[in-house]
Amino acid sequence: MTMTLSLAPAPSAGVPTRRLIIDGKSVDALSGRTFETRNPATGELLASVAEGGAADVDLAVAAARRAFEGPWSRFTPFQRQEILLKFADLVEANFEELTMTDVLDMGAPITFARARKTRALGLIRFYAGMCTTIHGETLPNSFPGEVFTYTLKEPVGVVGAITPWNAPLTSTIWKLGPVLATGCTMVLKPAEDAPLTALRLGELLLEAGLPEGVVNVVPGFGHDAGAALAAHMGVDKVAFTGSDVTGRKIIEASKGNIKRVTLELGGKSPDVIFADCDMELAVPGAGMGVFANTGQICCAGTRLLIERPIYEEFVERVSAYARSLKVGAGIDPATQIGPVVNATQLERVAGYIDVGLGEGAVATAGGKRLTEGALKHGYFIEPTVLSGVNNDMRVAQEEIFGPVAAAIPFDTLEEAAAISNATPFGLGGGVWTQNVATAHRMAKAIRSGTVWVNTYGGLDPAVPFGGYKASGYGRESGLHHVDAYLETKAVVMKLA
Ligand code: NAD
Repeated sequence: MTMTLSLAPAPSAGVPTRRLIIDGKSVDALSGRTFETRNPATGELLASVAEGGAADVDLAVAAARRAFEGPWSRFTPFQRQEILLKFADLVEANFEELTMTDVLDMGAPITFARARKTRALGLIRFYAGMCTTIHGETLPNSFPGEVFTYTLKEPVGVVGAITPWNAPLTSTIWKLGPVLATGCTMVLKPAEDAPLTALRLGELLLEAGLPEGVVNVVPGFGHDAGAALAAHMGVDKVAFTGSDVTGRKIIEASKGNIKRVTLELGGKSPDVIFADCDMELAVPGAGMGVFANTGQICCAGTRLLIERPIYEEFVERVSAYARSLKVGAGIDPATQIGPVVNATQLERVAGYIDVGLGEGAVATAGGKRLTEGALKHGYFIEPTVLSGVNNDMRVAQEEIFGPVAAAIPFDTLEEAAAISNATPFGLGGGVWTQNVATAHRMAKAIRSGTVWVNTYGGLDPAVPFGGYKASGYGRESGLHHVDAYLETKAVVMKLA
């Protein structure tokens, strides 16, 4: 498939500029460099953004260290909680603006982005609640009465957070929450493709009363600002969300000072559809399990494993569902499928469709780039169902991160389990059945961090989320998320 893009020309004047947030101040990059961020639906230039580099990361890490050792260390858990609750109120009051920023900056369909309100606010308030629950323990020892032993939970220190572009609002909150709940400080490097929401959240945190330097936001490119942050000797922990390819570089970069590392990486999640499923639920449920947010969700159920007796019918119905989805600019409330984020991603998705067809799959829905009318300036591609896929094909093994489903038949639960687990990843998974035993057996058999049954993709603040295998280390959300931002100190005191 050939890609020719005709981006709308940039307006010559009146383009907003956005600067780094370091030590509570809005500053230019030391290099003076900027980069552009554009609306992927229209090519319109949205803002010129200061391009942070290694020298800016140095300043931001130093500010985060001063705040960690200075004023922030004197905040009680109750005071940190108050800031998080105030921040939640500000995010709520500005939610429409934040949503619109996500929609314009990365192309999310607005209806989908607005539906994240409960989760975004719930997450901040959940972490506010966590502030006052963090505590050590008193412990038994071999010298009762003579020795008193207890543990303290202490913040790990300066956190370098690196985020992707596919869900700017919620992925930023996922990093902020545990940092503020535990008393850490942070340098955040948002993705170069969608940095605007993180910058706005940085402003709202200052408005909520967060001391200068506790959260610093340094947009820039991965190979420059991102790599500098990941390797920085003044950073105690890196919390990374992104691709497995970059995740491996983060592990490598962490070696200098043995940083703590948590990784939320990609997936190739199976969604297993048994012949006894309720098709009325399963067709749109599994359909949106892969196509939501234009397929740009890490845990998307991109491999549809379908029990052979219903294979043809299900493929036909899910293909009809894919064809019925309205593709358009995210800003239109009727849009169900927006653009993919940029030209590289469009090439990648289209390239994978070609690879799948070359390997013998058939496109029973979609398969083409959309270039007519209002869509001609954006990065649009049809929601696509590839049928006749076998699990060894590249389209079943590699993360595409676009609206492409691969349909694979199976005959037994054991075979479905084997196919489910035969990729390097283990992030999500789904099961559609009306048989309770099948549901539990399959949920147990899939080696993934989350398995949904008769639904797909919902995330909740109290429920841990993360990967097995090459999908990463650690969990976000849930009661134990904060543990990854804490050190445990044992204190052994002789009483006599
Ligand atoms: P990416 O790995 O290309 O980039 C992610 C971030 O890392 C960006 O901020 C980027 O600038 C930065 N980066 C790139 N190279 C770097 C380097 N050498 N050192 C340090 N930082 C570097 O990923 P992406 O394309 O932005 O996002 C899509 C990927 O993210 C997909 O694989 C998706 O599955 C994954 N993802 C995972 C989760 C999860 O929770 N598991 C959530 C969302 C997205």
